[in-house]
Amino acid sequence: MRPITREPHILARLEAELGADRLLRDEPLAPLTTFRIGGPADLLYRARTPDELERVVRVARELGVPTFLLGRGANILVGDRGFRGIVIRSEVGGVEFLDGGRVRAGSGVETFPDLIDATVARGLGGLHHFVGIPSTVGGALWQNLHFLSPAPARERTVFIEEVLESADILTQEGERRTVPTSYFEFGYDQSILHHRDDIVLSAVFRLTPAPIEELRRVIRENLEWRDERHPDLWLYPCAGSVFKKIEGIGAGRLIDQCGLKGRTHGGAGIFHKHANIIVNLGGASARDVRALMEMVREAVLRETGHELVPEIELVGEF
Ligand SMILES: Cc1cc2nc3c(=O)[nH]c(=O)nc-3n(C[C@H](O)[C@H](O)[C@H](O)COP(=O)(O)OP(=O)(O)OC[C@H]3O[C@@H](n4cnc5c(N)ncnc54)[C@H](O)[C@@H]3O)c2cc1C
Repeated sequence: MRPITREPHILARLEAELGADRLLRDEPLAPLTTFRIGGPADLLYRARTPDELERVVRVARELGVPTFLLGRGANILVGDRGFRGIVIRSEVGGVEFLDGGRVRAGSGVETFPDLIDATVARGLGGLHHFVGIPSTVGGALWQNLHFLSPAPARERTVFIEEVLESADILTQEGERRTVPTSYFEFGYDQSILHHRDDIVLSAVFRLTPAPIEELRRVIRENLEWRDERHPDLWLYPCAGSVFKKIEGIGAGRLIDQCGLKGRTHGGAGIFHKHANIIVNLGGASARDVRALMEMVREAVLRETGHELVPEIELVGEF
C-alpha cells in the first residue's frame, strides 16, 4: 500500500498549508542526528516559529499523517528505512531575557552552546550545569535533561526541572496553554511528554545571578569531566547512554562487568571509555546498533540477571 504521504490529495493539501518550497521530500535524516544514522523522511518540515509548529502539527493531525518531532536528534536512533510521514524539526528560535533573572527560549534553541552561552554572559546560573550535552529546549524537557555534577566533588544529579518555571505548549487536544513545571510530572529520564502528544513551543527558565568567573569555573570542570568519559561527537557519533540507569548499580558498570567494552557489530561499537555508549565507528547502520544492543541486553541478563531497558528512542522503519 502507498504511504499516505504519497497520496496526491494529501500532498496537495500539505503544500497548500505549509508551502511547497518548505516541504522537503525524501530528506535524509542521518545528518540531523548525533548518531549520523538513519534513512530518509518522506517529508521534512523545519518549523521556525511557534505558529509554524502549531500549523504543521494541526494539519498533519487533521489529515492523519504520522509525525515525528525532531530536536537536535541526540537521543534517538532512526531506522535505516527512514520515517513514513512528516518529520517536523523544531527550529523555533528566540532567546528573550525577562525580569527577575528569567529567560524565555524557543523549543528549537540549542541549550548548548546557544542558551548556556547567552545566560552565562549575563551572569545567570542554573543552565550552565548542562554544558557539553547536545539538546534543544524541547528535547531537554522531554527527557528532563540531567547531569551528575562533578563540581564541587560530584555531589548530586542536577535536573533541568529545577530551573524551569513554565512552558508554552500545544496540547494533544490542540489547545495552546502555558503550564507550570508540575504539569510535566518530571522523573529521571521522564516527563509527561513520554505519555502525551503535547508539544513544547517555548519555555521560561528562572535562573540565579552568579559571578561569571564562578559559572565559567563550573563549566570548565564539567567539560573536563565529560571529555574524559564521553565520546567526541565528531570522531564518534552516538546518542549518549543507550540503556536506562539502574539505580545504585549503573547500566554501564554491568555491561563492563560482562567484558563487552570495545565489542563491535558491523560499523557499531561499544565505546572503550564508557560501556553504556554505542558509537558509530563509520558507516554503521541502525541494524548494526540494534543488533549490538540486543547482544548486550542478552549478555547482561544471562550473566547478571538484570534486564536493561533502552533509553534511546527508536524512530521509523528498521
Ligand atoms: C554525547 C552525548 C552525551 C549526552 N549526555 C547526556 C547527559 O549527560 N544527560 C542527559 O540527560 N542526556 C544526555 N544525552 C542525551 C541527549 O542529549 C538528551 O536526551 C537531549 O535532551 C535530547 O534532546 P534533543 O533535542 O536532541 O531531542 P531529540 O533526540 O531530537 O528527541 C528526543 C525526544 O524529544 C521529543 N521532542 C523534541 N522536541 C520536542 C518538543 N519541542 N516538544 C515535545 N517533545 C519534543 C522528540 O519527539 C523525541 O521523542 C547525551 C547525548 C549525547 C549524544
